[in-house]
Amino acid sequence: MVKMTAADRERYSRQILFAGLGEAGQEHLLASRAAIVGCGALGSFHAAALARAGVGRILIIDRDYVESSNLQRQWLFEESDAAEALPKAIAAERRLARINSTVRAQGIVADLTPANIADLLSDAQVILDGTDNFETRYLINDFALSRTIPWIYGAAVGSYGISMPVIPGRTACLRCVYPDQPAGAQPTCETAGVLNSVTAAIAAVETADALKILAGRAELVRPRITTLDLWEGGMRQIDQPTPAADCPACGLRDFVHLDGERRAPVSLCGRNAVQIHERARPLDLAALGSRLQSLGQVRANDFALRFVTGSYEMTIFPDGRAIIKGTADIGIARSLYARYIGA
Ligand SMILES: [Zn+2]
Repeated sequence: MVKMTAADRERYSRQILFAGLGEAGQEHLLASRAAIVGCGALGSFHAAALARAGVGRILIIDRDYVESSNLQRQWLFEESDAAEALPKAIAAERRLARINSTVRAQGIVADLTPANIADLLSDAQVILDGTDNFETRYLINDFALSRTIPWIYGAAVGSYGISMPVIPGRTACLRCVYPDQPAGAQPTCETAGVLNSVTAAIAAVETADALKILAGRAELVRPRITTLDLWEGGMRQIDQPTPAADCPACGLRDFVHLDGERRAPVSLCGRNAVQIHERARPLDLAALGSRLQSLGQVRANDFALRFVTGSYEMTIFPDGRAIIKGTADIGIARSLYARYIGA
């Protein structure tokens, strides 16, 4: 715990007055450490909220750059960040320093992988999910269970959002609820759009659970799945299932995503192209083509679909494999795959 100064007492007075936190809760927050994986709409909300709340150390991991189409919902970023194509992790770190200069926020430009996850996340007391793909979420789930670190799952697309806390040893984990990643191409914010309000709402639900954990009140996190739809209306909370005894991750502790075997292999192909060899992920190319139609140039035959967006050209095969031309950066290639095909 950290002893508060008079300036801290003033700065965080509205939070200290809140009975659920109080002075002891605030002291815990000032000494606490959080990690945010993915700094898009959800992650940039988490980061700003935790910095304002006085969370002592905030690590932000993101593999992508700021683009103008992010500004509609990615709360931390400004036009100048997009104009400079700044990495999101760097833009976030700079912005957080202006929001609260007394907390330590660090941005890491990286693709979270089985190889670097222990270095990046071992120190975290909670991990917040700001990612857009199941591949990374399963990796976080395995790691968090193996190290007994709580993490909060969150996702939003269209007007819909979902959040669920995973407290190792107490609640169900992501694989209890989704044993395998949904088959085929999934709707993504790039193909189905997203309302900025739903990203804020679901990120706020995640952040509230994170604050309980960081304030030393993890027992207050209730094992519930929250879903909301801000267009149709309605927020629902249902009890999380109890941990499944035969869950491969939390039950049998077989952390296949952590050893990297389940991760779609990636290889550089040529000087400026990356191949993602997805496994067992049959795609309906006709359906994918019609979703991508409005986002770039689409050409398709029975064997492959070619999609051109900006300076990137993606060739997508029915087995889920893709060749992405226009980059030699594996993180960017994975990001494009997650955005346009869904992962
Ligand atoms: Zn489980």
